[in-house]
Amino acid sequence: MPSDSIEKLRAAVRDVPDFPKPGIIFKDITPILGNGKLFRVAIEAFLEQCRGQEIDKIVGIDARGFLFGSAVAYDLGVGFVPLRKKGRLPYRTESAKYSLEYGEAEMELHVDAIERGEKIVLIDDLLATGGTSASAATLIRKVGGVLLEAQFLIELEFLHGRQKLEGTPVVSFLKY
Ligand code: AMP
Repeated sequence: MPSDSIEKLRAAVRDVPDFPKPGIIFKDITPILGNGKLFRVAIEAFLEQCRGQEIDKIVGIDARGFLFGSAVAYDLGVGFVPLRKKGRLPYRTESAKYSLEYGEAEMELHVDAIERGEKIVLIDDLLATGGTSASAATLIRKVGGVLLEAQFLIELEFLHGRQKLEGTPVVSFLKY
């Protein structure tokens, strides 16, 4: 992607200090979503990365991963699978726990969302410590998916999240 497009996206990301708790600088991507041109630039970045790969399904992480992942899946003409926080999916699920800064969280995937051997790209807005996407990777593999790659609009490199995704190629477009 041209570097001026990357810089336009970067300029639109809003830092919100102390959200959702003190000490966290939240990267707010709603200014990108709210601008038709920038939203398209962001989706194009993911699409460019997907081109040339044989992808069966996109898995998006609850909730901002849905916004980018579903648009990418639509354009590629492949299925979209939501990976949700515990208790939100109505049918039978596989689940994986992971640790947060304080305590634990759990992600779920419908047991029949991915067929054995299907090639998957995982999409979320942001890679921080990597706990969320590592549990997503575990779940995708647990139900038989082949995880080709994990893609993020933003990566907080200083948190070394990609180390938790060992064995999965990681791509991000805006690095901090
Ligand atoms: P982690 O499991 O630490 O990699 O956290 C990743 C998930 O939490 C993603 O779904 C992000 O949307 C969200 N997240 C974590 N840290 C931030 C942040 N500083 N700004 C915005 N979203 C964040």
